[in-house]
Amino acid sequence: MAKLSDPITILKGIGPTKARQFAALNVFTLEDLICHFPRYYEDRTRLVPIEKLEVDVPACFKAMVMNTPRTSHIRKGLDITKVQVADYSARLTLTFFNQKFTAEQLQYGKEYIFYGAVSGDFIGYNMTSPVFEALDSAPLVTRRVIPVYPLTAGLSNKSVLNAVRQALAICDPPEEIIPEAIRNAYDILPAERAYYAIHEPNSMAEAEAAKKRLIFEEFFIFSAGLSLMRSVQAMKKTPVYENCDLSAFYNALPFTLTGAQQRAIGEIVADLRKGAPMNRLVQGDVGSGKTMVAAAAAYLAICNGKQAAMMAPTEILAEQHFASLSKLLTPLGITVQLLTGSQTVKQKRLARESIEGGSAQLIVGTHALVSEATVFSNLGLVITDEQHRFGVGQRSALTGKGQDPHLLVMSATPIPRTLALLMYGDLDVSILDELPPGREPVDTFLVDESYRPRINAFIRKQVAQGNQCYVVCPAVEENETLNLKAAETWAQTLQQTVFPDLRVMLLHGQMKGAEKERIMAEFASGKADVLVATTVIEVGVDVPNATLMVIEDADRFGLSQLHQLRGRVGRGKDKSYCILTSHNKNGETLQRLRALCKTTDGFKIAEEDLRLRGPGDFFGSRQSGLPVFRVANLSCDLQTLKAAQQASADWIDKEGAADTPESVALRKRIAQLFARSEGTMN
Ligand code: ADP
Ligand code: MG
Repeated sequence: MAKLSDPITILKGIGPTKARQFAALNVFTLEDLICHFPRYYEDRTRLVPIEKLEVDVPACFKAMVMNTPRTSHIRKGLDITKVQVADYSARLTLTFFNQKFTAEQLQYGKEYIFYGAVSGDFIGYNMTSPVFEALDSAPLVTRRVIPVYPLTAGLSNKSVLNAVRQALAICDPPEEIIPEAIRNAYDILPAERAYYAIHEPNSMAEAEAAKKRLIFEEFFIFSAGLSLMRSVQAMKKTPVYENCDLSAFYNALPFTLTGAQQRAIGEIVADLRKGAPMNRLVQGDVGSGKTMVAAAAAYLAICNGKQAAMMAPTEILAEQHFASLSKLLTPLGITVQLLTGSQTVKQKRLARESIEGGSAQLIVGTHALVSEATVFSNLGLVITDEQHRFGVGQRSALTGKGQDPHLLVMSATPIPRTLALLMYGDLDVSILDELPPGREPVDTFLVDESYRPRINAFIRKQVAQGNQCYVVCPAVEENETLNLKAAETWAQTLQQTVFPDLRVMLLHGQMKGAEKERIMAEFASGKADVLVATTVIEVGVDVPNATLMVIEDADRFGLSQLHQLRGRVGRGKDKSYCILTSHNKNGETLQRLRALCKTTDGFKIAEEDLRLRGPGDFFGSRQSGLPVFRVANLSCDLQTLKAAQQASADWIDKEGAADTPESVALRKRIAQLFARSEGTMN
């Protein structure tokens, strides 16, 4: 017997070339292979009479060969073999191209099972190159359900099928992790049967049952993982924060907090006084003022003698938080320190010295914070901003730098409930459902190229009023295949041809950190009128003076992403606007974009986006911090998710700590799943 961890190269027919092709599918070991699940199945179990065959719909039928196959040599490299077959209902001509050897095996007067699709280009029936096998041979390509796998260049479905069959023959599938009682209660197949049946189902019903089991399994592992994390957290002890007077903080603020902000801070204070680590998510739409809530929490931690760390997903955002938090907290006698990857070696060294020495009290940074070199003297509170950009693992890597610190995660992305359950199942939630007073909704318009002169005039008008504009492009450089606005060339065009008298700046993700920072700072301080940018400005950037955002080729972005982008304007006193441009004429695409013009409710937009695009694309590729689910499609498997969540919660309550074979296997799989979701940060 082989082991699940053995490389696939131990299989027959898998040499270096095939191994490379499988690697492109992230298949390296026998386990990866066994967990490489079909995308769908072809049901070849049903036999159809010839007269019932539908054009272009592949199907199986039983027929007798009515003549000896005849091959004509048309020209060099082209042989055509034709043969007549018939059943009780009709006759059919089969045509094979360059398959002389295969086709001539068909024997006159003998019955075979065929699988193929008739084409309707001719008068009467015709079928090209069906697969077939004799009635008395073992069913291999007909009379069964054939799985169709995700493939890659050079790798055929047949190679994957063969490899999977071999793997299942020489090694046991992953162990059972769901106890029998739960399997019975939720009508779930045992692991072993499910892993065989997903690859070699006897019927479509069995394939479905196998799929259901494997989806349940993924959700079960994930929710069990979250429950374990939660119970481990709940058992931890941490000193009660005695000093929770926020009056100095409130007095330093340039505005009154909204009711929602005050409520969230109240919930945080209660957490901090509980004696166990806080695990709280603050969820609020763009502009709802999450930073101030985080600042209040940091202030409390520091008043109680602890350090607080705030991690942001991009350098720009870290910079900005650093600037605004220093301005607010330095006058209160608090030392705020920045730490990002793009700082000079010396800056980083000094920063780390002050963090380790304890003189830095609030540390704002990027994932440089989790690097091994960063040591805290007394980390009591971890804040992650725009949490959906981080994996669960990155979150815990940072909390690991303190002694059971409090955790506050913030997300501007209104997350549909389905995903929220998955991503934040281990957190308590505060919702900021109120915008600071005086904010008017951003007026949004969808236009095509014919509006270009009016767009330009509108940009001019905003600038003339002393405001600033963003122009967002989907690409950095000109791309020959896609006719998309590229930030670089578009910035040039705008500066040289359209607005020679205005100050146009360019910002994109391929620039060096320091460069981005400088440009963003200059734009924020009013040194440019128009900032042409890619989605680097999507997250968090705060320039209240910017009142117009033009998003070019808006159809290239997801709804939630557009909503995030739009959140960069409407942050000050002045009325703000968002213009979406698109050449796209597709009705569905336009409808999607119009949805954005009609509402500014992030939750509604998020639900719509999830419905339209599925969870994989929801946050942009691989940025979601969600584990990589192999079978589960979140948008349609909500029922299974709920069932699995219920099951795992019950089970953890009852016997989660016991060392049954299932719970040992489960813990191993939890660790694997969370490891796979790492490295999802951009
Ligand atoms: P987000 O929730 O998107 O992170 P921010 O924390 O960046 O929002 O806040 C958006 C803007 O609103 C900032 O300029 C901030 O200073 C301002 N702001 C926050 N809270 C209030 C408030 N209660 N009243 C007025 N302005 C506020
Ligand atoms: Mg923010």
